[in-house]
Amino acid sequence: MTVYLININNDCNECMECVEVCQTGILTEDFINMVKSKINSTESPDKILFRKYAPECTYCESCESVCGQEAIWIINLNPECEEL
Ligand code: SF4
Ligand code: SF4
Repeated sequence: MTVYLININNDCNECMECVEVCQTGILTEDFINMVKSKINSTESPDKILFRKYAPECTYCESCESVCGQEAIWIINLNPECEEL
């Protein structure tokens, strides 16, 4: 099974644009708010990266495309899939 890893850093300004375009429902306002809250509760928020395994993600990359902050990106963890 292909699994993807969602990465979000502190450049996220909670605009919720990614929430609007995520068709699988993984990205929600509650999720983004939780991520920012967790990042901001650390001693060095700008050095913290939030990561979450997301088997539901379809790797549509809509969130990456819409994010003006370039604060979210997806990594494909499928070991059989080579990137060119
Ligand atoms: S689109 Fe980018 S800046 Fe906006 S909520 Fe999503 S990750 Fe944060
Ligand atoms: S790549 Fe697509 S399905 Fe995955 S989190 Fe981003 S918008 Fe949602």
